[in-house]
Amino acid sequence: HPELRTLVRTTGFHARHRPTTPAILCEGRTLTYGQLHRESNRIAHALRAAGLTPGDRVAYLGKESEHYYEILFGCAKSGTVLVPVNWRLAAPEVSHILQDSGTRLLFLEDEFATVVDKMPTAPPETVVALGEHFAAWRAPHPDTEPPDTATPDTPVAQLYTSGTTGLPKGVVLAHRSFFAIRDALASEGLDWIDWRAGDIALIGIPGFHVGGLWWAAQNLNAGTTIVAMRAFAARQAVDLIRDLGITTACVVPAMLRMMLTEPGIRAEDFTTLRKTVYGGSPISEALLEESLAVLDCEFAQIYGLTETGNTAVCLPPAAHVPGGSLMQAAGRPYPGVRGKVIDGEGRELPPGAVGEVCLSTPAHMVEYWRLPEKTAETLVDGWIHTGDAGFIDEDGYLFIRDRIKDAILVAGENVYPAEIENALEAHPGVAEAVVVGAPDERWGEYVHAFVVPAPTKPPSPRDLHTFLVPRLASFKLPARYEFIDVVPRNPSGKILRRELRDRFWRDSARKVN
Ligand code: ATP
Repeated sequence: HPELRTLVRTTGFHARHRPTTPAILCEGRTLTYGQLHRESNRIAHALRAAGLTPGDRVAYLGKESEHYYEILFGCAKSGTVLVPVNWRLAAPEVSHILQDSGTRLLFLEDEFATVVDKMPTAPPETVVALGEHFAAWRAPHPDTEPPDTATPDTPVAQLYTSGTTGLPKGVVLAHRSFFAIRDALASEGLDWIDWRAGDIALIGIPGFHVGGLWWAAQNLNAGTTIVAMRAFAARQAVDLIRDLGITTACVVPAMLRMMLTEPGIRAEDFTTLRKTVYGGSPISEALLEESLAVLDCEFAQIYGLTETGNTAVCLPPAAHVPGGSLMQAAGRPYPGVRGKVIDGEGRELPPGAVGEVCLSTPAHMVEYWRLPEKTAETLVDGWIHTGDAGFIDEDGYLFIRDRIKDAILVAGENVYPAEIENALEAHPGVAEAVVVGAPDERWGEYVHAFVVPAPTKPPSPRDLHTFLVPRLASFKLPARYEFIDVVPRNPSGKILRRELRDRFWRDSARKVN
């Protein structure tokens, strides 16, 4: 519908068609589409009354709640750009984001007031507390729809990369980033990912991350009901799926793993799920096979970056065949999206050759905020250079090896951690595995494996070595094994390799990254 090409008219459209349908369920509270429409209108007027003009940045520092989505739509309707801040960040990191974005108004949950107090810089001009005062702050303003001037190219959100590869950069996304892929799927009648009225959708990936925000926006645009958790917790997620009859979920692989290893879970807990969308980091074949076995529903993998407006590539449900050749693929580009793989000189490589993955997608970012040089490096002639190593096969399926920067250089050969982790996780005694490169006098680097043993039968390094020998080339075999309790990850499920790798490189002149 033409009204649903931006986030601005979404709530108005559904408030007319389904005013009493729940838009958001959070911790036992319900917000209907009628309420979401009226409250976001008030917020838009309140933002204008506070002196904000279109293009101004408005930040949100808090956990997930119905207020987050009211604010998302309030910002869209006022023409301001929402900057969601990861609430796990420390004061200097929050300060960087608020300063860099030039945030003029901050919505702040009481729980994080101390973080703002500890910032080395002054807080934004206006801070609106989200506690009891929030209702009073917006109450005086009309609940009528403000005039709409947005187009699909108007910026609506600025998300900071998590900084696993450097200082966080502000990725500016326009309305089109949230809807281009949905429109592409619809134009070809593809149901790789679909949104149906009556769906109840779990927001697993946090809303300050592009995956969570994209999923929530798709669902609210489609008039479904979303279920927001303050913060992801596996037990709670399983209980919500069962008790609320959740039909769709979007999660990172680490969340799937947590749900499947939750004590006492049963396949029956997931019977209402019709589709699970997962992505954000590589998934091991072992975890994917187990997920298919326990969750009796369709699966769709999404691959993309904040810079590509979330997903650009999808592994459709039909490709999820246990033991099948596509179980390690990230998927194929959506209609209207193109992928290519290039070498270090920018030359396009033939099918099967590993190089840097580049994507041309109508959902791509507008720019990195105030970083024209970085923008020009990443967005070249409409192609996003992903920084991921991978290849495209003869049939057009993309296989991601890993981040180029995470490659381990053993005797001049590139070793991609995900391949070795995948091989290790196929061992029944391994719950999770992470490998990093450590300095080696002879070979430059060696592969160092961190292993979280399965509780039932912890393996010895010799067991693991024997297991891997027939599966991997010898230069890829870990030279050392170290057993750990948990894998450090960021909230979007990405392994914090630097935390594990740094100690090896502290005294080395050849420090990586
Ligand atoms: P930074 O760029 O600072 O490290 P980030 O990790 O938050 O920040 P995102 O845009 O969230 O950046 O993550 C994009 C990356 O996630 C991709 O480049 C890729 O490495 C990984 N990724 C996303 N989806 C998949 C997938 N389905 N399979 C494998 N890797 C994936």
